[in-house]
Amino acid sequence: MGERLQDPKGEKMKETIDRCDLCGGELRPGKTTLEIWRGEELLVIRDVPADVCQQCNEAYISVDVSERLDHFLEEYHRHRPERYLAVPQYSAAQAMGG
Ligand SMILES: [Zn+2]
Repeated sequence: MGERLQDPKGEKMKETIDRCDLCGGELRPGKTTLEIWRGEELLVIRDVPADVCQQCNEAYISVDVSERLDHFLEEYHRHRPERYLAVPQYSAAQAMGG
């Protein structure tokens, strides 16, 4: 993913865009899955409405969606997750050789 202007969720936000920032590809309405760290917890939110690049799959979420997610993130503990995922973790030493 990119390293340009990002909100805390790591997704780019823009009012209006019609082309992908990264590759110039065409954006179409679609859905994306967000992975968001909250302290030591990793949350996954699936099926978030987004404009998705048809070339590189970069997802752009609207300010409106972002604000609603921000609200959810303030009180997500009150919601029961639909399921829990087991996520493998590796160290850089494992990943980069040795
Ligand atoms: Zn793109």
